[in-house]
Amino acid sequence: MGAALLKERENQVHVKGEKPFNLVCNKDSLAGAVSQRACVFCGSRVVLYPIADALHLVHGPIGCAVYTWDIRGALSSGPELHRLSFSTDLQEMDVIFGGEKKLRRALLELIARHSPKAAFVYSTCIVGIIGDDLEAVCKNVAAETGIPVIPVQSEGFKGNKRAGYQAACDAMFRLIGTGETAGISKYSLNILGDFNLAGEIWMVREYYERMGIQVVANITGDGRVDDICWAHGAALNVVQCSGSTMQLAKMMENKYGTPAIRVSYFGIEDMSEALYDIARFFKKQYPDDPKADQVMERTKALVQEKVRDLVPKLEKYRKSLAGKKAAIYVGGSFKAFSLVKAFRLIDMQVVMVGSQTGTEEDYRELEAITDPGTVIVDDANPLELNSFLKEKGVDVFVGGVKERPIAYKLGIGFCDHNHERKEALAGFEGMLNFAKEVYSSVMSPVWRFVPRKEQASASFSA
Ligand code: SF4
Repeated sequence: MGAALLKERENQVHVKGEKPFNLVCNKDSLAGAVSQRACVFCGSRVVLYPIADALHLVHGPIGCAVYTWDIRGALSSGPELHRLSFSTDLQEMDVIFGGEKKLRRALLELIARHSPKAAFVYSTCIVGIIGDDLEAVCKNVAAETGIPVIPVQSEGFKGNKRAGYQAACDAMFRLIGTGETAGISKYSLNILGDFNLAGEIWMVREYYERMGIQVVANITGDGRVDDICWAHGAALNVVQCSGSTMQLAKMMENKYGTPAIRVSYFGIEDMSEALYDIARFFKKQYPDDPKADQVMERTKALVQEKVRDLVPKLEKYRKSLAGKKAAIYVGGSFKAFSLVKAFRLIDMQVVMVGSQTGTEEDYRELEAITDPGTVIVDDANPLELNSFLKEKGVDVFVGGVKERPIAYKLGIGFCDHNHERKEALAGFEGMLNFAKEVYSSVMSPVWRFVPRKEQASASFSA
C-alpha cells in the first residue's frame, strides 16, 4: 500500500480486513510529513468566527489573519461584524518590545468604532513566544469598555487543531452562565457545532421549531453573544461536529448539568435519527407530559414528509452513480460517518476515508461501517492522499480547500464539504444538493479533456 507512506506514519493508516484494528491517532503531526492539518489558532478561529456580533481580533502578524470571511463564509441573519478581519499586525519592533500596548490601542479603537457585544482576542505563535499578557490586557479593556473581552489561548505551536477547538470552548465557557434564563422553555436546546455554512443552521432550526422545541443558542453558526450567555438555561445540548464543541458540552454538563447528545445533520438516515433522538430525549424527560407525545408526533410527520419528497428525486442520481467509488478526507471524523452512509444511499462505495482530528473511538466506528479493503487514515498529507486516490481508482473525492487541487490534478471529481463551501449539504434538502454536486462533478464532460492519472505514475522517495 501507498509508496508515498513514510515509515513513521504507517501506524496511522489502516486497511480494513488486512489486520486487526490498531490505528494510532490524536497525536502531533510528523515533522516532514506536510500534514493537511490547520494550526491551533486556525482551529479556534473556525469555531468562534461565526459569532456575528462579536469583534474578532487576531493578535499576531498579518499572515495569521489570512483566512477571512470571504474564504470561510458563515452566514448571519443580522449583524455582520464577523465578516471584518482585524489584526494587530505585529512587526519587528513589537516582537522586540512587546505587543501589549498595540493590542490595547487596537481593542479600544475597534470597540469604540463597532460597538460589539463582546471581543475575542486570538493569540498566535509569536504572542506565545514574546509572552504578551493577553489576560491582563483583556481584563483591563473589559473594565474600561463594559463588554466581555476574552482571550483565546490559541498559539499555533501548542498542539494540533484539536487544541484550537479546546481554546475556543474555553473562551465561550467564560460567557455561558452570565445571562438570565427566564423565559426558556423546558422543551429547549442549544445547537452546538454547526457553523451556518450556506444557511444550514436555518434549515435545522426550522425542523426544531416544527417539532415544537425552542432553540436557545446557535453555537456558533449565526451566533449571538447574548444567546451564548444564557445557553446554560437550555434543557439539552445537541452537538454536531463533536470534535469542535463536544468539550464545551462536557464543561456545561459538569457545571450546569446540561445533558448532551451527539448528532449529525448529513444524509437522510442521520438527519432523521438526530430528530428522533431529540424527540425521544424529551419523552424520557417528561414521560407524562402530553407535549412530549406531541413533539414525537410532529417529528414523525416531519421526517415522513421530507423522506417522501426526497427519495424519488435522488433516484436519477443513484442510477447514474451506482458502482462509482468515493474517497473522503475531512476535518472531524464524525462527519465522515454520515458521508459513508450518504454515499451508500446513492449506491456509491467509499474506498478511502480519513480525518485531521479523529479519535480512536471515531476510527473504530469508521472501521465498523466501511467495506473490507477501505483505507482509513489519520492526519494525512498530499502525497499519501494522492497515492491512495490512484490506488483505489476513485471517481470523486470529498474534502476541503486543501484537498480540491489534489483531486483536480489527478482528473478526479471533487465535492467541497468543508467551511469554504457555498452549497447547503446538511438536512434533507442538503442530501439532494450533495447528490447533485457529486453527480455534476463525476459526470462532468470536462474529464474527457483531463484524463485521469493512473497508479503507474505514483512514486515517492523519502
Ligand atoms: S504563525 Fe502560528 S498562529 Fe500564525 S498561522 Fe502560523 S502556525 Fe498558525
